[in-house]
Amino acid sequence: MKKILVTGGAGFIGSHLCETLLEAGNEVVCLDNFFTGSKANLLHLLNNPYFELIRHDVTMPFYIEVDEIYNLACPASPIHYQYNPIKTIKTSVMGSINMLGLAKRIKAKILQASTSEVYGDPEIHPQPESYWGNVNPIGSRSCYDEGKRCAESLFVNYNKQNNVKIKIVRIFNTYGPRMLPNDGRVVSNFIVQALTNKPITIYGDGNQTRSFQYVDDLVDAMIRMMNTSDEITGPINIGNPGEFTMIELAEKILKFTGSKSKLEFYPLPEDDPAQRKPNISLAKKHLNNWEPKVDLDQGLLKTIEYFKNTI
Ligand code: NAD
Ligand code: UDP
Repeated sequence: MKKILVTGGAGFIGSHLCETLLEAGNEVVCLDNFFTGSKANLLHLLNNPYFELIRHDVTMPFYIEVDEIYNLACPASPIHYQYNPIKTIKTSVMGSINMLGLAKRIKAKILQASTSEVYGDPEIHPQPESYWGNVNPIGSRSCYDEGKRCAESLFVNYNKQNNVKIKIVRIFNTYGPRMLPNDGRVVSNFIVQALTNKPITIYGDGNQTRSFQYVDDLVDAMIRMMNTSDEITGPINIGNPGEFTMIELAEKILKFTGSKSKLEFYPLPEDDPAQRKPNISLAKKHLNNWEPKVDLDQGLLKTIEYFKNTI
C-alpha cells in the first residue's frame, strides 16, 4: 500500500483520481482549499478509513510523509482562473515550489498536472511535446499559461539540481461527471444549456477546434505516468486526438439531449486558441500502449446522464 497526496483532489479531475487510487488499494490524502472543488465531490469517500481530506492552500508550506504526490491544485476553467489572476499564478508557482520542496525532503515522486495551454495559440498542428508554444505573456490567459509554464520549469530544475523524481503531463481539454455546471467550460456549458432549453453560447464563429478527452482515460494515463521508470520525466501530452469544432460539439449535444435550444453567437474571448489537438505518440510509447478508450459520443452520453441527475 502506497501513501499518496493529491493536491486539488476535491476538484473535477482530482476527485476521480482519488477514487481510482483508493480502489487500487492505496492510502490517499487529499489537500484542497475548496476554491473550485467541494466536499460534495468526495462525500462517497469520506467513510473510507484510508482516505483523508485536509483543507489547505498549496501556496502555504505543508508537511506530510507520503510516497507520491499528484499536484493538481489550480483552477482550470478560464472564468475561475481569471477571477483572481495573481492568486492563480501564486497557486501554480508557489504551490509547485512548496510541493517540490516537500518531495525533495521526503524523497517522494511528484507529478505535475500541466496543460495544453503551454502551447498557447499553436502555430504547429497537432502539437508535439517538442513545440515551445505561442503564448501571449501579458494576455488574460497568461496567469494560467505562464504559471503552468513556470511550474514546468520548476519541476525540470528540481529534477536536474536536486534529483527529485518528477513527472509532467500536459493535459488536453478533459470533461466528464463532476464538472461544475457553472464553471464556464464548453462541454458543461453546452450540456447544461441544452438540458434547460436555453440558447447554446458559441464564442466566435464556432469553427475553433478542441480535442476532448473523457476523464477516465486521463486518470488511467496519469497513474501509468507515475509508475514509469525514473528517467521518464515528461512532459508527455495526454489527450484524445479526435478534433471537433465547437459547432460540431454543439450539434452532438443537441442531438443526444433532444434539446430545442438554438445556437447564439458571442464575441470570441481574448487569445482564445484557434485549434488544438495532441500528438500522443510519446504517451503511447512510454505509457504501456496507453490510448484513449472513450470516444466523444460515449463520453458525452455519460456526462449528459450525470448533469440530468444533478441540475
Ligand atoms: P478544478 O477547478 O475542478 O480542480 C482544481 C482543484 O484545485 C479544486 O478542487 C480547487 O479547489 C483546488 N485548488 C485551487 N487552488 C488551490 C490552492 N491554492 N490550494 C489548494 N487547492 C486549490 O479543475 P480540474 O479540471 O479538475 O483541473 C485539475 C488540474 O488539471 C488543474 O491543475 C488543471 O490546470 C489541470 N488541467 C485540467 C484540464 C481540464 O481540461 N480539465 C486541462 C489541462 C490541465
Ligand atoms: N466556448 C464556447 N462557448 C462556451 C464556452 C466556451 O464557444 O459557452 C469555446 C471557447 O471560446 C473555446 C472552446 O469553447 O474556443 C473551449 O473552451 P473551454 O473554456 O472549455 O476550454 P479552453 O479554451 O481552455 O480550451
